[in-house]
Amino acid sequence: MAEAAPIRPRMLINGELVEASDGKTFTVYNPATQEISAHVPEASADDTNAAVAAAKAAFPSWSAIGGSQRAVHLKKLAALIRENKDELARLDAISMGMPVSTHHYAHTASTNFDHYAEAWGNIQGQASVNTPGLVTMTLRQPYGVVALIIPWNAPIHFLASKAAPALITGNTVVLKSSEKAPLSSARIAELVIEAGFPPGVFNIISGHGLPSGQILSRHMDVRALSFTGSSRTGKLIQEEAARTNLKKVILELGGKSPALVFEDANLEKAVAQTQFSIQTNSGQVCMANSRIYVQKSIAPQFIEAFKTKFAGARAGNPLDAETKHGPQADEVQYRNVLNYIEEGKKSGTLALGGQGTFESTKGFFIQPTVFLDTPETARITKEEVFGPVVIINTFETEAEAIAKANDTEFGLYASVFTRDVGRAMRVAKALESGYVGINCTSPLTGLDLPFGGYKSSGQGREGWLYSMNNFLETKSIIMRIDED
Ligand code: NAD
Repeated sequence: MAEAAPIRPRMLINGELVEASDGKTFTVYNPATQEISAHVPEASADDTNAAVAAAKAAFPSWSAIGGSQRAVHLKKLAALIRENKDELARLDAISMGMPVSTHHYAHTASTNFDHYAEAWGNIQGQASVNTPGLVTMTLRQPYGVVALIIPWNAPIHFLASKAAPALITGNTVVLKSSEKAPLSSARIAELVIEAGFPPGVFNIISGHGLPSGQILSRHMDVRALSFTGSSRTGKLIQEEAARTNLKKVILELGGKSPALVFEDANLEKAVAQTQFSIQTNSGQVCMANSRIYVQKSIAPQFIEAFKTKFAGARAGNPLDAETKHGPQADEVQYRNVLNYIEEGKKSGTLALGGQGTFESTKGFFIQPTVFLDTPETARITKEEVFGPVVIINTFETEAEAIAKANDTEFGLYASVFTRDVGRAMRVAKALESGYVGINCTSPLTGLDLPFGGYKSSGQGREGWLYSMNNFLETKSIIMRIDED
């Protein structure tokens, strides 16, 4: 193994950059080369409790100052993230393999901190005189300590889209990064200090689900928890919350998103967009359209064009500016995807790819892979693969397309390609999905729209105003105004 790179990730607890109190670390490897990228502190139970205690102590003064004063620190952090965007992209590339050429998370992270810095004026209750003798009003107030647990596939995007609304609304935060991609969050921990946040307001710890993630889920002093990750972990967190203090839980979970392509669609655009959706981040995107249903009459043309485009994405070292297709995040992800591919070969027809190339490249690369004619009941059709693997099946009627699209436990994002406006809206209405793209697909989203899943894809919604609401309690106050 190569020498560790000179990166020294530490945790931010109570305004100090620290190692784990018991000195424990875990190692992050570059998934393209197997070189050691860094040794990272593994938060112990004591560290996790210390972060929550620091956040609890910081809450009274942070929530008492005005939104405009809190905003100063968010603005500063946004600017620092922008200044450090290249380094943040490099840190994600050498931990979870996202090509620097496609890395836009520093941009979305700084946009989030900038947006919420301006948004504090939206923290408003309501008032009425609808009840005779009373003035009634609501106040919106922060929960207190909020825990944020994020995944590895878009690390600082989730860091920012959760932490910025939690902080501007007056909550204090303990964020746990993912063990697969902790480096960019650790760099942001340093920037949080530069941005002048008071100690304890914004704590960032690193480590696995056990112990730190589980401790946050059960902690009696954590009043709200926002999680993005797998449905499996989401259920565990919900159970812990129910068993302890019934903290408010917001869950953004997995997907198996369908794209329906009708014969009247613009074929070229449908191919380009569905291919981009499943190829982005090597298929490691919750809303990637991993199931494509094409109307039978155009299936041969669609499949040929799709295969050509999908196979053409340039694979290579994610630090290379020309690379568009990076490795899977680590060996576990790589083996998982290969297992699904082997199952797919038994249940459907392999039409493209189907191999991992670790033996020849020493990186966890998987070829863009297409399966045809896979039964709707097959595991690979039902479960989230999280790799550059797509099922292309066919349909004849609109009703059949909708039934197949909805035959899933997930409901995060769905799309429909057609030039028939009536059909587009009929299908959009019928799809059991929190998000629907018409003549477009994921990862495209509208900035000010709510994002979240139907069914097992989650609970609650995130997005500009929606995320602020997630971190605000509502208090009703009534005041008598009749004369004594
Ligand atoms: P994961 O569930 O394995 O891990 C997510 C986070 O949870 C990590 O920080 C992990 O350390 C932590 N964790 C693990 N076990 C825990 C436990 N018992 N208690 C508390 N925390 C625990 O998910 P992942 O592999 O990091 O991310 C991929 C998954 O995330 C996919 O399923 C993907 O679809 C989903 N995802 C969803 C969205 C969305 O917005 N809906 C976005 C991105 C990713």
